[in-house]
Amino acid sequence: ETARPAYKRVLLKISGEALMGDQGYGLHPPTVQRIAKEIKIVQAMGVEICMVIGGGNIFRGLAGSAQGMERTTADYMGMLATVMNALAMQSALEGVGVFTRVISAIRMDEVAEPYIRRRAVRHLEKGRVCIFAAGTGNPYFTTDTAATLRASEMSCQAIFMGKNGVDGVYDKDPKTNPDAKRYDAVSFDEVLRKNLRVMDASAIALARDNKLPIIVFSLDEPGGFRGILSGQGTYTTVS
Ligand code: UDP
Repeated sequence: ETARPAYKRVLLKISGEALMGDQGYGLHPPTVQRIAKEIKIVQAMGVEICMVIGGGNIFRGLAGSAQGMERTTADYMGMLATVMNALAMQSALEGVGVFTRVISAIRMDEVAEPYIRRRAVRHLEKGRVCIFAAGTGNPYFTTDTAATLRASEMSCQAIFMGKNGVDGVYDKDPKTNPDAKRYDAVSFDEVLRKNLRVMDASAIALARDNKLPIIVFSLDEPGGFRGILSGQGTYTTVS
């Protein structure tokens, strides 16, 4: 008998870069398909899954504004990038037989459902993966904030931050510091005080205020997401 997962409803947050593979830009369909399979395994365990995907593989508002674009316009472009990623993920999930809904914070009825909280909850109860697109719908926010907001609204038990190339939260950047140490557990306050790289500060503060734990893990290991949900593997719990 397989261990029953401790979680009934979770939100998986991945960055846009998680979908670009080794290309350095844009979408790499085989990578999206690999992640879709990880989600399918977890869904088969009976866990209700929300998703938020970033847009940094296509466009970041700050980068646009640094090059002279008006900031809010650049941010809307970033939000549109997250919609493209959400549609790619929907296609990959449906390709492996997982029903999904893309739910956009910016109305575009031909492409995605509008965000209506009770309707989204109903989708989850029916076993559909809800991919929340277009961030919060507001400039000056990030998809980390969107993840915390939607996880709170959907009463998720935790946010799972799927990372590439790193299996948790470290005291220093492990890519440049071989002596960096991984935390098994760390508090929200310590993350904020030491400016540890988990999420941006406003997203961390929102998670803290709503008592929403964040579990940072690596999406690189096949079956890793399932393992983490059953408490196996290495990860960091921020709570
Ligand atoms: N964005 C925004 N409001 C939101 C979410 C996202 O304006 O609520 C914009 C912002 O410009 C951001 C871009 O969308 O740079 C892509 O999102 P993010 O940088 O969070 O993506 P990630 O780094 O996770 O790939």
